Amino acid sequence: MIQRPKGTEDILPFDVYKWQYVEKTLAELAARYGFNEMRFPVFEYTELFARSDGESSDIVGKEMYTFNDRGGRSITLRPEGTAGAVRAAIQNGLLSGNFPLPQKIWYNITAYRYENVQKGRLREFHQFGAEVFGSESPYADAELISFASQIFKNLGLRDINLEINSIGCSKCRDNYAEALREYFGQFDELCDTCKTRLKINPMRILDCKSPVCKKIAEDAPIILDYICDECKNHFDDLKSILGLLGVDYTVNPRIVRGLDYYTKTVFEFIANGVGTQGTVLGGGRYDGLVEEIGGKHTPALGFAMGIERLLLAMTEQGISVSQSGGTEYYIGDTGGKKEHEMAMLTASILRVNHCTVQTNVTEKSVKAQMKYADKIGAKFAGIIGESELASGQIKLKNMKTGEEVIKNFKGTDFKWLIQWVK
Ligand code: ATP
Ligand code: MG
Repeated sequence: MIQRPKGTEDILPFDVYKWQYVEKTLAELAARYGFNEMRFPVFEYTELFARSDGESSDIVGKEMYTFNDRGGRSITLRPEGTAGAVRAAIQNGLLSGNFPLPQKIWYNITAYRYENVQKGRLREFHQFGAEVFGSESPYADAELISFASQIFKNLGLRDINLEINSIGCSKCRDNYAEALREYFGQFDELCDTCKTRLKINPMRILDCKSPVCKKIAEDAPIILDYICDECKNHFDDLKSILGLLGVDYTVNPRIVRGLDYYTKTVFEFIANGVGTQGTVLGGGRYDGLVEEIGGKHTPALGFAMGIERLLLAMTEQGISVSQSGGTEYYIGDTGGKKEHEMAMLTASILRVNHCTVQTNVTEKSVKAQMKYADKIGAKFAGIIGESELASGQIKLKNMKTGEEVIKNFKGTDFKWLIQWVK
């Protein structure tokens, strides 16, 4: 038996309603906030991610699914959505001036990372993301964060904290990087990766998952002591708008986010009770990225949320999703050709009338069909036999109460059908 690859999951037919509920909630909320959906490829040229996510990021350094296609081009399965979304926005002229700015888009994608597989950490996973192109104002940051926070409210998640920080711009980061180099340079115990990070991008050390590095990082200098006046004002404004909107947050000066492209605002939503993979949503501002990928300078920001982690958090916090829909009618038959045809036609008529119907597409006995109707949770079941053909009426059993009714489906007269079958 061939197994599914490590780090992938199958979403089974009886579980999919949870996904559909979450996806529907997200799409509706995104529309209310003025975001439009965008779809873009699962794979891109490797260079896109190398350039946008940054050589020193975990993603580019060790997590990408990269291969040469048959034409010898290096291709990578998208490890996240922002790079592809930005590439698509530039390539299709959304940021060229022909379209109004800001452009606000959302996506719901699969993403691929070669990870150490754990609960809430997969190799194929799903991300819902939103991006805003064309505003440098803290009002844009506040609106985006408020949208994110509304997602959790709408889904009923309560035990979730928003942490925000500013990591400044390239100007303030130079001074900060210097301070970090000086601080971390004293510790020989840093992991090998962090020793490299010390040279390329010392801020990345603050994001290291090794317990030793984490401990050392506790006393590292904090960015908020190094950011310039412009970045500081931006952050102060953001905080006051969030206050106005009633979005609760704490400032966590240790959030740096895993990608090289962030500037100024960064934020995370952390759910309690999910363990180490509690970060359900992360995002921030990336004012330099559009230019980096070859577009014209466009301040921008966005977030991505892991749907698997969101569902874990919902389960952990006891939020149940009710399963709507389901089969209303099971229409079976006693096995003769005419009866079988009649059952099929009845089902078709009911479906035209917007009913959810399953019919008999097997050679099962009546008893087995009723058992099936019960197992699939049909609300009513009826069997068409000789007498039904003769009378033109179908007796329906209410599967919950056992009560039998002769149902005239939404006024449809079945007599003509029977004539027709005869
Ligand atoms: P972590 O620090 O947990 O590795 P990250 O910083 O790599 O997360 P992002 O790149 O910010 O994560 O992705 C945004 C969100 O996508 C995360 O907050 C998480 O909910 C989800 N996510 C990221 N990687 C995975 C994964 N391997 N499996 C499942 N969900 C993931
Ligand atoms: Mg990661």
